[in-house]
Amino acid sequence: MKSFAVDLDALLTVAAAILDSSGVLLGANAGFLRLLPGEGEPSIGDNVARFFIQPAFAALVAAADSQSDGYRGLMTIGDYDGKTRTLRGRAWRAGPRIRVLAEYDIADLERSLDVLTELNQESSVTTQALARENIARKRREVMIVEASLTDPLTGVGNRRRLDQALANEISRSERTGDRLSALMADLDHFKRINDTYGHDVGDKVLAAFGELLREHVRATDIATRFGGEEFVVLFPHTGREHALDTAERIRAAFAARHLEPLQDPVTASFGVVELMAGERAESLLQRLDSALYRAKRAGRNRVVAG
Ligand code: GH3
Ligand code: MG
Ligand code: MG
Repeated sequence: MKSFAVDLDALLTVAAAILDSSGVLLGANAGFLRLLPGEGEPSIGDNVARFFIQPAFAALVAAADSQSDGYRGLMTIGDYDGKTRTLRGRAWRAGPRIRVLAEYDIADLERSLDVLTELNQESSVTTQALARENIARKRREVMIVEASLTDPLTGVGNRRRLDQALANEISRSERTGDRLSALMADLDHFKRINDTYGHDVGDKVLAAFGELLREHVRATDIATRFGGEEFVVLFPHTGREHALDTAERIRAAFAARHLEPLQDPVTASFGVVELMAGERAESLLQRLDSALYRAKRAGRNRVVAG
């Protein structure tokens, strides 16, 4: 015996019906009922002859009767709202009944495929839009993180940036054995500048020092404002000699820079140290501070190695 495993797709793309000779529906599958008007949908016992458009139901019965294996060909079935479907199928007589079996036609399947293709395209457009939005969001996040680690006045990193970088670089140096050096700078007699020219001019001097630091350090170096008029630069993969050279170049360049409306050049003092084996961030900062203090004591506008 043939098994009638239910395949939903097959059920919906095959229309099967049993009618009497006048067109009264005696039985139908979902695929057939789906062809007929949605509202006031006919049910078993209704005469559905009028829904057979081409051939008309009477002509279909005549054709079924006139050929030994019944009618074979196209059948246009539909409502009177202009919604018709053309199916390829058969109609044949079985005693007093007419059986109709038809498949939804290829054009219909192609239309379904078109719809699927459109939906796919829409979804790929959506996917692309989402990907773009994702990139833009990541960029915004990077900018927010960047801003949260930058000192707005001087454009160098802030204290948070220094703390993070110091922890990272110290553990990296412990891991790899790479050298790590640092400088600490403090503007000389900065209070006088504020007192003489006002706080705004003081701010300009700080901004100028930040700019100079950014000009003189490598992309891998980390220039930060430690607080007030004090700055710290980390030099990863770098020994004390090179850090001393860089500090000296920054010192000389700053002392040589004329800053409007200041009469005299502004100078800065520097302490430079190299990380010792097993040393913690706090100790490194203390040694930087004491080297800087010695530079101040020795007359300012100089670099002292700690
Ligand atoms: P020294 O050469 O010993 O370092 O003398 P100094 O005057 O630079 O040192 P002091 O620590 O006495 O003064 C630092 C001044 O820096 C005091 C403070 O008002 C000023 N300052 C700190 N932060 C800012 C800032 O953001 N803007 C301005 N304009 N001034 C600041
Ligand atoms: Mg100070
Ligand atoms: Mg100072």
